Amino acid sequence: MEDLDPVLLLATTDPTSREVLAAELRRRYGGDYEVVVCADYAHARAVLEGLRRWHRQVALVIGCYGPGDRDGLDFLRRAYALHPSAKRVVAAVWGDFESTSTVFAAIAHGHAELLVLRPERRRDEEFHGALVDALDDWHLAQGIGFEAVRLIGEQRDERTHSLRDSFGRNHIPLAFHDAGTDAGQRMLADLGLEDPDLPVVVLAFTSPPTTLVAPTDLEIADAFGLTRPPPADHVYDVVVVGAGPSGLAAAVYASSEGLSTLVVEQQAVGGQAGTSSLIRNYPGFSRGVSGAHLAYRSFQQAWAFGTEYSFMRQVQGLGAEGMLRTVSMSDGSVVRGRSVVIATGVDYRRLDVPELEGLVGRGVYYGAAVSEAPSMTGQEVYVVGGGNSAGQAALHLARYARHVTLLVRGPTLAASMSDYLIAQLEATRNVAIRYRSAVLGGREADGCLAGLTVGDPRGGGTEEVPAAGLFVLIGSVPRTSWLPDEVARDDAGFVRTGPDPADAAGMAQGQARLPLETSLPGVFAVGDVRSGSIKRVATAVGDGATVIALLHGYLAAHPLERSAAASSGAHP
Ligand SMILES: Cc1cc2nc3c(=O)[nH]c(=O)nc-3n(C[C@H](O)[C@H](O)[C@H](O)COP(=O)(O)OP(=O)(O)OC[C@H]3O[C@@H](n4cnc5c(N)ncnc54)[C@H](O)[C@@H]3O)c2cc1C
Repeated sequence: MEDLDPVLLLATTDPTSREVLAAELRRRYGGDYEVVVCADYAHARAVLEGLRRWHRQVALVIGCYGPGDRDGLDFLRRAYALHPSAKRVVAAVWGDFESTSTVFAAIAHGHAELLVLRPERRRDEEFHGALVDALDDWHLAQGIGFEAVRLIGEQRDERTHSLRDSFGRNHIPLAFHDAGTDAGQRMLADLGLEDPDLPVVVLAFTSPPTTLVAPTDLEIADAFGLTRPPPADHVYDVVVVGAGPSGLAAAVYASSEGLSTLVVEQQAVGGQAGTSSLIRNYPGFSRGVSGAHLAYRSFQQAWAFGTEYSFMRQVQGLGAEGMLRTVSMSDGSVVRGRSVVIATGVDYRRLDVPELEGLVGRGVYYGAAVSEAPSMTGQEVYVVGGGNSAGQAALHLARYARHVTLLVRGPTLAASMSDYLIAQLEATRNVAIRYRSAVLGGREADGCLAGLTVGDPRGGGTEEVPAAGLFVLIGSVPRTSWLPDEVARDDAGFVRTGPDPADAAGMAQGQARLPLETSLPGVFAVGDVRSGSIKRVATAVGDGATVIALLHGYLAAHPLERSAAASSGAHP
């Protein structure tokens, strides 16, 4: 069944909508998808059941809602159980404003993902743009078919998991092959490898293909050939540390405004946002946008403006050479910049349960681990946390898992989670919320998470529950341990920025720090890592845009010395 085209299923009792939508779907997508059209919902349900039995992939399920069809929303709600990974689309008719609030409520409760308006003319690109985005998200979640990189490893090994995650988030077409299967063993034998250290990474796009056995991040980066360190004597106008939303936004503005820019990223573009399956509150994306897509577009945008990248290299030190700032990387190289933007975000707080730490990547995940959700199909899954990230993760996992339990330490979610998320969680059939609960212990079977001990952390009874997945989203700590003491931080380790009220003399002489500037001149901090930041994608992007406007002033006030100017190619 693998080679058959995925299905786009349209069902509606409204003859006009059926005729228009069917024609549009067949014309645009008929070559790549099997378009199935049903005139009533009972028939459509039977078709979806059949498709499930035959293990056919269903990419989109489209139902209608309006005066001529009142059953589409209920159909879409029930379609989820049959094909949880399919994107569900409600088609409505322009001008039927009475129906919109019902449709938006259904989407907020997770009964469908997307609202589109029925095209009233041919070549309605807004309609098709929405469908193509939904199909793109569906494909991303399924894994991309073209194998630019082959990864042969163990299904639940932490290193394998982290490489799958990084490749996926960097949009590198990857095929994973389980070394424990006959096909995986055959593949290793074809490569001439007998019982190699795992994982094995094969770059199928090089000629001849490059095989890397248990490679480090740096070996992978070098084999890709895209991220060689810059010449040692080069001076950038700005070195951005971190390619999350704030760092990428800084790079877009810096390079588009003529500043030579290097972005150093230790893992994958997108930072935390890259792990979010759907960001619904980023302005301008009324249908929501996946974090991976948003980040990838910013990455490409900055690249097109001339930003250079150094991937899979961790920044480990920051120093000063006169007016230049130096950034030391994990491969031993040092890059120099006239200014540095710290955009390193935050790390998740760990659970203090020793027996679970050894299971990270083998059933225990920090963060939403979007790429891991499909592997939870039919499993019992637990999510720990009371914030929006935990709520979103629980909803996403519920698309795949048999049952998801959200463990919340406190007696309520009201203060920590958005109302719309609480409503969606309560309305989702296979999600339960357990208040005054925490993970107190865990156990493994065959090296993987098998169960948890759950109970009230303040005492009382405990319960042993079976669990195949545990997703921990309990807050974060800033990634600032690599910074020197000259960069002042608050008690929690977040970087302090902006004028220092204690520096009255500096303020009086007009030499006070710029907003977003740290206590080390020429070094700025943006996004989640900044003390007092609002932890949102939009505010991180706002910081990234703002810092570059400020940087222009800083660079103008601190022109390059002549010798350094020669190596940067810039004019002082
Ligand atoms: C699951 C989830 C869902 C979310 N949903 C939403 C949402 O719906 N709406 C919303 O507005 N916000 C959401 N957020 C919050 C939002 O993602 C963050 O506020 C935002 O990503 C912060 O951006 P940032 O650039 O400051 O940091 P980050 O996104 O944390 O990026 C920092 C980057 O720096 C890199 N880095 C760190 N240290 C180093 C180093 N030493 N060397 C090199 N690179 C380094 C990291 O690898 C990372 O890529 C969500 C967060 C999560 C985790």
